[in-house]
Amino acid sequence: MESPLIDPFARAITYLRLSVTDRCDFRCVYCMSENMTFLPKKDLLTLEELDRLCTRFIAMGVRKLRITGGEPLVRKGIMTFFEAMSRHLASGDLDELTLTTNGSQLEKYAQALADCGVRRINVSLDTLDEAKFAEVTRWGRLPQVLRGLEAAQKAGLRVKLNAVALKGFNESELLTLAQYCAEHDMDMTWIEVMPMGDIGNENRIGQFWSLKDLRAELAKHYTLIDLAERTGGPARYVQLQETGQKIGFITPLSHNFCESCNRVRVTCTGEIYTCLGQDGMSDLRAPLRASDDDTLLDDAIRAAIGLKPKGHDFDYSRQTVEGQVARHMSHTGG
Ligand code: SAM
Ligand code: SF4
Repeated sequence: MESPLIDPFARAITYLRLSVTDRCDFRCVYCMSENMTFLPKKDLLTLEELDRLCTRFIAMGVRKLRITGGEPLVRKGIMTFFEAMSRHLASGDLDELTLTTNGSQLEKYAQALADCGVRRINVSLDTLDEAKFAEVTRWGRLPQVLRGLEAAQKAGLRVKLNAVALKGFNESELLTLAQYCAEHDMDMTWIEVMPMGDIGNENRIGQFWSLKDLRAELAKHYTLIDLAERTGGPARYVQLQETGQKIGFITPLSHNFCESCNRVRVTCTGEIYTCLGQDGMSDLRAPLRASDDDTLLDDAIRAAIGLKPKGHDFDYSRQTVEGQVARHMSHTGG
């Protein structure tokens, strides 16, 4: 057994979120500008390199692997990668293989994902109104995503919806989404919009809807039971007594829970970000490509974990966007 990854604040790193592409078939207004420039394909790690990287993290104690992007399911050959990762589930070295997706390709891939040992997925869905869905995703179409959700459940995947709370946009759907989740036996998480990357003409402060307000509104209609459940992440959960559904709140702005952070993120070009809310990163691609032996790569991973900061500095409290980071969420992976 290799020594585990422990950061300078004594937090064990057991969760890797890997972005396999920066590309996407949607253009969500809070995530990308409409005319995004994507990375040249040659900069991307190959599927074999992604496999090698994940395998080293797993050897060093990572127990949960989440595949994200961009839209992970638009990366060519991605199912080969999921199939390869399933060997770590079979060996017992990995507890969970999962993904975050916009759902557009689920109709096609849900069964194959389940066959690879994926048990739970997160699907991003900000609205159930077809016109609004087209507006917020710019290029997405709701019926395709709803068919994807149906396919996922049919394949036995447990689905959690993720919605970004957007002021003046989906406030009115707080109850519609809660009801949809109850009817379809899904849990859901609300996320505060974070200041990541240039998104063209959209206004971050204008978009920000505090989850404190959202929670208060929800409490007018349901009895909220606080759950002690912690995932080492920024989410805090309640259960709706009337329906049994779990609702999570990810509140990087109005609260932060960095002290228990157990995760790091690696981009599709092999950059490791040890904090979503900081610009600091280290390169793993050069050591990965420098030699077939893993020594350089392992050293680079350990050195990066040794630089993990205490937490992020996002703050809107002075009505200005503080702690903004330059890259888009689709670059680091949400
Ligand atoms: N394309 C996939 C999807 O949409 O689920 C995976 C990648 S996406 C970047 C991951 C998550 O990040 C999504 O739930 C998305 O809503 C969220 N996200 C993107 N930009 C964000 C921002 N600026 N603030 C908060 N959440 C954001
Ligand atoms: Fe694509 Fe996900 Fe970003 Fe939307 S949030 S543009 S689906 S990567």
